[in-house]
Amino acid sequence: MITNKLNFTVGPVQSSDAVRELGSEQVPYFRTPEFSELMFENERLMKAFTKADENARVCFMTGSGTASMEAAVANCFTQEDKVLVINGGSFGHRFEELVEIYDIPHTTIHLEMGKALTREQLYAYDGQGYTGLLVNVHETSTGVHYDIEMISDFCKKNGIFLIVDAISSFLCDEFDMKALGASVMITGSQKALACPPGISIIVLAPNAVERVYANKPKCMYLDLKLALKNGERGQTPFTPAVATLRQINVRLKEIEAAGGVEAEIKRIADLAEDFRKQIIELPFEIISDSMSNCVTPLHPKNVSAYDIFTILKDEYDIWICPNGGDMADKVFRVGHIGYLTKEDNKRLIDALKDMQRRNLL
Ligand SMILES: *Cc1c(COP(=O)(O)O)cnc(C)c1O
Repeated sequence: MITNKLNFTVGPVQSSDAVRELGSEQVPYFRTPEFSELMFENERLMKAFTKADENARVCFMTGSGTASMEAAVANCFTQEDKVLVINGGSFGHRFEELVEIYDIPHTTIHLEMGKALTREQLYAYDGQGYTGLLVNVHETSTGVHYDIEMISDFCKKNGIFLIVDAISSFLCDEFDMKALGASVMITGSQKALACPPGISIIVLAPNAVERVYANKPKCMYLDLKLALKNGERGQTPFTPAVATLRQINVRLKEIEAAGGVEAEIKRIADLAEDFRKQIIELPFEIISDSMSNCVTPLHPKNVSAYDIFTILKDEYDIWICPNGGDMADKVFRVGHIGYLTKEDNKRLIDALKDMQRRNLL
């Protein structure tokens, strides 16, 4: 039995009371005009919050964020494409694995851990016939937020079809899909949307909708033609995570009522700033050279990052986000998404100060 702890991870994160209350209700039957209305409202609000083109479409996929990453690659690219993949950590690596599985010709730009993509690195591929680019605008594993304006300019100049995984950046950092000329934007239910996991969301610009209809991917569940066709009547091809879609609806309306996407970005940015101001008193180094408001990646100077995660969990009832693989001992991350307050930040800072007094840092 896992008891609930104060949650500073990057997902699943804490939900609002209204979202949690909905989770206790019976799951309704969904092939109804009422559920279609709810789905149309979800589509409208997602388009507004991503600043998508008025003719953009939104697919709600049952599956975690990776399902939508896979759907985007499988439905938007073919063997005729030549794709650039930005790989600065485990989520960039995932895009690289996907283009390999789907036999999409590609070149990968490998970045050093914690380093942003530079103009020189990107423009080495200028004018070389690339047709697509895959990027995780916030590489959550290292906490690096890439310069999306620079990437957008490069793609516009080269006529490149831009797919942006904004799974952990949506609602945390400014993102104007239409101005950036992004063709596809992906996010998920369990990051800053602060709902249970189970749904990921793909926003398709009109040129992406065209590509989807022209393509024949070798998959059924992730075939976006089915999702788009059913979406015209506010439905999905298969039984979706109905409960999570209802929670997303409540949450999107909460954000709208509180001032929309700008207000939510500001709320998260304020929490991140409040935390970062206090963390400098402690023996940690911020490892990213360009951060999202979503998360602060920290390198403890004296002890194992994973030990800090375990002690906070077992002795202070707090979850921070550990890193995997060869970063496990070097880096941990503190998320600023979900239903958190500055008082919660203080509780974490106090716990870390107490660990310092006990010579555990
Ligand atoms: C969380 C996340 C994903 C998706 O992970 P899932 O576990 O499949 O939900 C993808 N990309 C980024 C950048 C993420 O932060």
